[in-house]
Amino acid sequence: MYQDPTTTIEHLYSGTPVYKHELIKLLKCDDPYILELLRSRADMVRQEHYGTDVYIRGLIEFTNYCKNNCYYCGIRRDNKDATRYRLTLEDILHCCDEGYKLGFRTFVLQGGEDGYFTRDKICHIIASIKEKYSDCAVTLSIGECDMADYQAFYNAGADRYLLRHETACNEHYSKLHPDNMSLENRKECLYNLKSIGFQVGSGFMVGSPFQTLDNLVEDIFFLGKLKPHMIGIGPFITHKDTPFCNHKSGSLDMTLKVISILRLSHPKALIPATTALGSIHPNGRELGLKAGANVIMPNLSPANVREKYMLYDNKLSTGKEAAEGLEELCKAVEDAGYKIVVDVGHAKC
Ligand code: SAH
Repeated sequence: MYQDPTTTIEHLYSGTPVYKHELIKLLKCDDPYILELLRSRADMVRQEHYGTDVYIRGLIEFTNYCKNNCYYCGIRRDNKDATRYRLTLEDILHCCDEGYKLGFRTFVLQGGEDGYFTRDKICHIIASIKEKYSDCAVTLSIGECDMADYQAFYNAGADRYLLRHETACNEHYSKLHPDNMSLENRKECLYNLKSIGFQVGSGFMVGSPFQTLDNLVEDIFFLGKLKPHMIGIGPFITHKDTPFCNHKSGSLDMTLKVISILRLSHPKALIPATTALGSIHPNGRELGLKAGANVIMPNLSPANVREKYMLYDNKLSTGKEAAEGLEELCKAVEDAGYKIVVDVGHAKC
């Protein structure tokens, strides 16, 4: 049956199931009136559950060594031009100390898949942070691990885990990753994390090479099935030293549209206005908030390693994207009509 995009937005808003062809039509739509309706509905839903609150997460990029070779990623194993580094436990705790003073109550430990950081080492890091800051949440973003590893991380005190599915279509997945990686394993990890009791975040890049609108709809439907607590999406951005160096980056407008659709379909999810969004447009972060996002993840890594964690070209890590730029960020967020809060900020779902 024919549905115009306005009806699709109302269906998303009221929780009525929507069909693939309706979402495709909405994703194709460039009518400013309809796009504004989508945005304002998403903002309304976000305000219903979270008011104008914006949660901040301190991102600690603790290693850029990675055994994987994802074609899109600047810290892939075969990028010989990447200068590799690892933070020590002391470095990480120092980041947390600085972050805590600034008002961060969630620390996100993100890294490549680095064998140096064994299960025991990661558990020790988690336990050390939790011992010092029992009122804070620890989030991990360290890729695919065994169920036993995940369980050990959880037992050591980790609260949340971010693992983007990257794309929910097998064929597309195999165009973004080498043969030794599979969507099946990625999905199994996500379900394992959920069954252990983690608050789980997933997501994908918008405009990644070879992505079709069909793929995007599959991503949206997959998240509908997974029902994650957190949804991280951002534009794909080219990295000059990867096999995708000649592919163009994803667009601001499409990313904003997808954020709004996801906000409508996941009213209580925590959705960051990602660094990638902030990196492709000077107001990307603020526009992300206005489109339905309610989390920002400033960089808490030591300044001397920030430019080494280059997932994509021109990745922001200074100014409003840096923990020490928090005051500037607070002001920008307030100007956009929202407010950064000092809160552990658990998902309300
Ligand atoms: N090793 C961890 C963390 C990966 S980095 C893991 O596998 O989960 C975090 C996210 O950055 C990735 O999930 C990916 O979606 C995103 N990313 C990587 N390269 C990117 C690029 N070129 N453009 C935009 N986002 C990218």
